[in-house]
Amino acid sequence: MTRIPIAVVGAGKIAQDEHIPSILASDRFSLVAVVSSREVRVPDVPVFGTMIELLAQMPTVQAISVCTPPSARAELVREALEAGKHVLMEKPPVTTLSELEALQELANERSQVLFQAWHSQHNKAVLRAKKFLLEHGVVSLRILWRENVRQWHYGQDWIWQPGGFGVCDPGVNALSILTRVMPYPVFVSRSRLVYPSNRQAPGLVDIEFTSGRSESGTMTATFDWLAEDEEVWELHFHTKDGHEVVIEGGGRRLRQDGVVVEDQAPAEYRSIYERFAHLLETGESDVDAAPFRLMSDVFFKGAIETAPEFHW
Ligand code: NAP
Repeated sequence: MTRIPIAVVGAGKIAQDEHIPSILASDRFSLVAVVSSREVRVPDVPVFGTMIELLAQMPTVQAISVCTPPSARAELVREALEAGKHVLMEKPPVTTLSELEALQELANERSQVLFQAWHSQHNKAVLRAKKFLLEHGVVSLRILWRENVRQWHYGQDWIWQPGGFGVCDPGVNALSILTRVMPYPVFVSRSRLVYPSNRQAPGLVDIEFTSGRSESGTMTATFDWLAEDEEVWELHFHTKDGHEVVIEGGGRRLRQDGVVVEDQAPAEYRSIYERFAHLLETGESDVDAAPFRLMSDVFFKGAIETAPEFHW
C-alpha cells in the first residue's frame, strides 16, 4: 500500500508526544517533513522554518497536521488548503466558529479533506457509553476536569492569552465526549469563569447545562486548572432507569454501576491517524463543531470573576 506523504506543522508538546510517533508507527502515512521555528531534529526528516518554505520546496506532500495553538491555526490551514493539501487540525480547531465555518467551506469548494481531530472521542469507552446512554436515557450529569496546568502546559503563555481559552483548552475534551455520548443536545444555561488577575483566560470554569426536556435534571461541569493533588477527568451520568455510568481517565475507562466494563490502553492518536487515512481514501471531510460551539457558549454566557495572579 502506498503511504501518504504527510508533514507536521508546529513541533511542540503534542506533536512530539503523539503526532510524530503515531505517524512514524503508521503503515498508512510517511512523515516527509516538519515545520518548526526552532532547531528541532527528527531523524531523516527535513525541518522547514515556515509553511511557505515547505509548500515551495516539497510539492509532493499531500497531507498536513497542524499542531500549533488554535490562535495560529486558521491561517496555516487556509494556506495548506489553498495549496491543495488535505488537513488535520488539533483541538480546539481555531479561535472562532466563523473561522471554522469558512475553512469548512474552503475545503468543500476544493474537494479537499479537512479533519477536526477530537482525541478524547477516539476511545472505545466513549463509543460504548454512547450506546448505553442511548438505550437507557440520561437524567443528570456531572463533569469534573481537574488538572495541574504547570504539569501539562508548563510555560505555554499562549494558553492564557485571548484565543488560548485557558482551562477550556483541556475542558473542551470533556465537551467533545459529552456531545458524542449524549442522546439529546444540551445547552449552556449559566457559566462562571474565573480569570487570574494577570491573565486573559480562565483557570476555573463552572457550567450549568439545560436541555429543555422534562426528563433532564441537574447537569453541571467544573474545569479546574490549579489542582495540584489528584487529577480527575470524569463524566458521571445517571440514567432514567437508575444506572450510574462514569467515563474516567479522560475517556479511556468506562464504569457502569461501579464495575469497570472497558479499560483501554492509550490509543487515541493511532485511531486519529487511522480515521484520517480512511477520510483520505473516501475524500470526505469530518469536522464536528459541536464541542467547540458549546465551548463558545460557555464564554458567551460567562459571569467573570477574578482570582489572584498566576505565575508559572
Ligand atoms: P506547545 O507545546 O506550545 O506547542 C505548540 C507549537 O506550535 C510551538 O512549539 C510552535 O512550534 C508552534 N507555534 C506556531 N505558532 C505559535 C504561536 N503563535 N505560539 C506558540 N506556538 C506556536 O503546545 P501543545 O501543548 O503542543 O498544544 C498545541 C495544540 O495541541 C493545542 O491546540 C492543544 O490544545 C493541543 N493538545 C495539547 C495537548 C497537550 O497535552 N499538551 C494534548 C492534546 C492536544 P515550533 O516551536 O516548532 O515552531
